[in-house]
Amino acid sequence: MTHDPQDENLYNGPIMNYMVNKNTPNPWDLDAEAIVVKIRWFGVLIGYFLANAANFSGDRRGLLNAILAIGVAYTLLDTYFSWKKKVFLGEYPLFIAAMESLFIGLLCYYEEGLSSTFRYYYFLSILCCALRYSWKVTALCFTFHCISYGTLFFLLNDNSQSKIFISLTMIVMGWLAWASTSLTTLLRRTSSSLEVSNNELLKNKSELEARIAERSKQLQEAQAQVLQQEKMAAFGLLAAGIAHEVGNPLTSIFSMVQILQKKELDDYTREKLDLMSGQLTRIRDTLREVMDFSRPANLERKKIKPLPIIEEAMNIAKYYKRTRGKVSLIPVQQNLPTIQGIHDQLVQVILNLILNAIDAAGTGGNIEVELIITESNIYFQVSDNGPGVAPDDVPKLFQPFFTTKKHGTGLGLFVSQKIIEEHGGTLQYLQKPEGGSLFRAAIPFPNLPL
Ligand code: ADP
Repeated sequence: MTHDPQDENLYNGPIMNYMVNKNTPNPWDLDAEAIVVKIRWFGVLIGYFLANAANFSGDRRGLLNAILAIGVAYTLLDTYFSWKKKVFLGEYPLFIAAMESLFIGLLCYYEEGLSSTFRYYYFLSILCCALRYSWKVTALCFTFHCISYGTLFFLLNDNSQSKIFISLTMIVMGWLAWASTSLTTLLRRTSSSLEVSNNELLKNKSELEARIAERSKQLQEAQAQVLQQEKMAAFGLLAAGIAHEVGNPLTSIFSMVQILQKKELDDYTREKLDLMSGQLTRIRDTLREVMDFSRPANLERKKIKPLPIIEEAMNIAKYYKRTRGKVSLIPVQQNLPTIQGIHDQLVQVILNLILNAIDAAGTGGNIEVELIITESNIYFQVSDNGPGVAPDDVPKLFQPFFTTKKHGTGLGLFVSQKIIEEHGGTLQYLQKPEGGSLFRAAIPFPNLPL
């Protein structure tokens, strides 16, 4: 460890190097303070017992009780601060050590002198100091206590106790100071490295959770895109199959009609054959358009014209059974510029928007498709006179799998938004003031980033 907590804050009271701010002690200081408070209460209670159980004269007992009352007052304050998650006088450890030396010295002086039971308070005081402060503060506390005990020796001039007894008491005090400091240092270091590891673990955990959330989102989006593509591919395959099956007999019928038309016919039959031929041509053109739509998508990025995108989407939309309303294209200016993009993908977007508008507007609905060119954007707009989107649903519109339809997939808008974003643009929903929805795909123009 490069950072030794013991080298700092000699006069700063509790070991504050782990503190974020001096007014908010760390958990170690508070736990140590709680132990110290208990030791103090234990000390004063035993003190009262000693002072009052022994056969002292009234004066001495009174004095001892008075000194102990100071101890009780201090301990009460200490308890109150500890309860408030603070350390009382925590920034003045030497002052406290000096006061404790004086307090214990006085108790010993008025009790039994050098052999007083109160001399054990020196040990408790050193233990409390080691628990809360740096080894330097504990060493100074030990020094104060030696001075206090030594002073007693000179003041009392008590020859009943040998110098060996006094020296031994001081040696045990020193030994306790060393042992308790070493132990608390070890505990502090362990607790600090545990805290570091714990913080690391918490950090890693939240990073991991964020990464998992990000990956899950990507996976869900990819899955949604694949589903939509599969849906389009399945539709394409079905359309191609039908077109093929219907196409062959149609060609035969068409040829037969043409053969019959070349014969000598009465007016009525010719008129009916011409009608048949007209209807058959319509069916053939329709099949051609369906075949066009079902061919594999061309994902080539190139310069494309915006108007054919809309026209193709409207053409496909009219073959959907659900077409009940009227889909119209607002007239656009001629000589439209070209844009960079993928034609088939943009057709898919406009088709999605038109189909949604048809669904929303219902029978007799009115759907308008509009192309607006400004200096910086090309806007593809599809609006309808349906009920619009419920306010609660607006934030969910572009989320995958959000649908209010019985057989909906909830992928159309999600995939459409992705496609427009891949073209450097945005897809927005706007509530029309007169009611109904307006979806606007804006693609930057002319410098489209691809
Ligand atoms: P799906 O069409 O499969 O439901 P979409 O992603 O295309 O999936 O649409 C999601 C939902 O957005 C629809 O179910 C519908 O509730 C709402 N929505 C889309 N377009 C319109 C619209 N023009 N008017 C009202 N609601 C719409």
